[in-house]
Amino acid sequence: MYFVKTPWWLKKLYPQLVWNKARTTKTIFLTFDDGPIPIVTPWVLKTLKSFNAKATFFCIGDNINKHPAIFLQLKADGHAIGNHTYNHLKGWATADELYIKNFNKCQNLTQTYLFRPPYGRIKRSQILEIKKLKVKIQNLDNVENEKLQSENSKAKIQNLDTVFNQTETLNITSEKSQITNHKSQIIMWDVLSGDFDTTLAPQKCLKNVLKHTQNGSIIVFHDSLKAWDRLQYVLPKALHYWQKQGFSFEGLG
Ligand SMILES: [Zn+2]
Repeated sequence: MYFVKTPWWLKKLYPQLVWNKARTTKTIFLTFDDGPIPIVTPWVLKTLKSFNAKATFFCIGDNINKHPAIFLQLKADGHAIGNHTYNHLKGWATADELYIKNFNKCQNLTQTYLFRPPYGRIKRSQILEIKKLKVKIQNLDNVENEKLQSENSKAKIQNLDTVFNQTETLNITSEKSQITNHKSQIIMWDVLSGDFDTTLAPQKCLKNVLKHTQNGSIIVFHDSLKAWDRLQYVLPKALHYWQKQGFSFEGLG
């Protein structure tokens, strides 16, 4: 059982988490969890682009290592990146030390101050640990984009470590490299599409999402194989509907 619309009392129980953004502007914050993976993630990117929409991708570290070229494409397209742990761990069932270690392993790849706990399940002690972190972010976007464009074949990028190591050898200490300090943010949601629910008809999934979304909503989708049937149906229709209503779509942060 899950709530499509996050109830007010849950938000009140955990005020230190981000559940939605300001209700004052017609902006929607789409989020995609569990990628990056082939086929589904590139399709999401193409669909978002056709609506001029930006989003946030909460990536699993293991998937980033398996599919580094897709990860770089997410960044090159200007979407925000979030940490979703390296192995999609369930916080309630994981010792704090192990959880933070797994978080850090993903953090090395994502370099982000946005975190979403897998399953939305996280202990208060883990929240405290993560909220304590100040994240130093070195803006390498320009360098990565240049690197990406200079590759004749994206498939050549075998491993992200290689990419990061190579960027270090470039002269990036000048105006291109900016280090900023951010407080980490734990991002939850106020609309859960239920796209992961294989018993949910795509039409019902669409109806749920449209019914509950409002200004400042953070909406959860998944770029995963499990969600694929519903996502393909819902995403273009929902984007079309919201665009006609005058909404714009932005990444978090
Ligand atoms: Zn997840």
